[in-house]
Amino acid sequence: QNFKSLGLNKNLIKGLNELGIVKPTQIQEEAIPLLLEGNAHLVGQAQTGTGKTAAYGLPILERINANQKSIQALILCPTRELSQQVAKQLFKFTKYTEKIFTEAVYGGEKIDIQIKNLSRPTHIVVATPGRLIDLLNRKAIDLSQVHTVVLDEADEMLSMGFKQQLDEILSALRNVENKWLFSATMPHGIKQIVNQHMAEDAYRIQ
Ligand code: AMP
Repeated sequence: QNFKSLGLNKNLIKGLNELGIVKPTQIQEEAIPLLLEGNAHLVGQAQTGTGKTAAYGLPILERINANQKSIQALILCPTRELSQQVAKQLFKFTKYTEKIFTEAVYGGEKIDIQIKNLSRPTHIVVATPGRLIDLLNRKAIDLSQVHTVVLDEADEMLSMGFKQQLDEILSALRNVENKWLFSATMPHGIKQIVNQHMAEDAYRIQ
């Protein structure tokens, strides 16, 4: 398998090749074709280092309409560091594609600056749950055009006490057609989230 046979376009593949990313990892082989199709919920058991960011990030990039100046995908992460890393990876992948704008928002930094940044055209938001709730309460972020939501390191988000925030966010986004959850472990809290917020017919990969 290569990225072309998985269904990615040549501009994304050109950027990947430049980064030395030529052979899909196992999770990429399994996830990318499913996620490119759309209208799919997915629960993936994956550790860091398996290429999971690209597994969900590449299909998201492929499905962003760059001409539409609205947030179309939301990626939730446990920490500021991971949020920044994910945003950086997505940026690197798009060297040869149309301009796709990703903004990372997280706690511990002045919210005013993030609100100002979000007023620029933004297609993808990478956020920690607490800060996202804050932005929603201030009506500083519009998620009405989001078609894809990703929970990255979902078990870590639970360990950090974000269960209630995740429930709140997922309830607000209940009509989103693609909900993808990635987690290294599958504790009870994760099963609750899957049962409550994701379709029964969610694909499962590990
Ligand atoms: P992740 O598991 O998403 O944290 O990715 C770990 C690292 O592997 C990142 O630096 C990626 O850029 C890199 N990577 C992702 N997919 C591939 C691939 N198919 N081949 C080589 N490196 C990859």
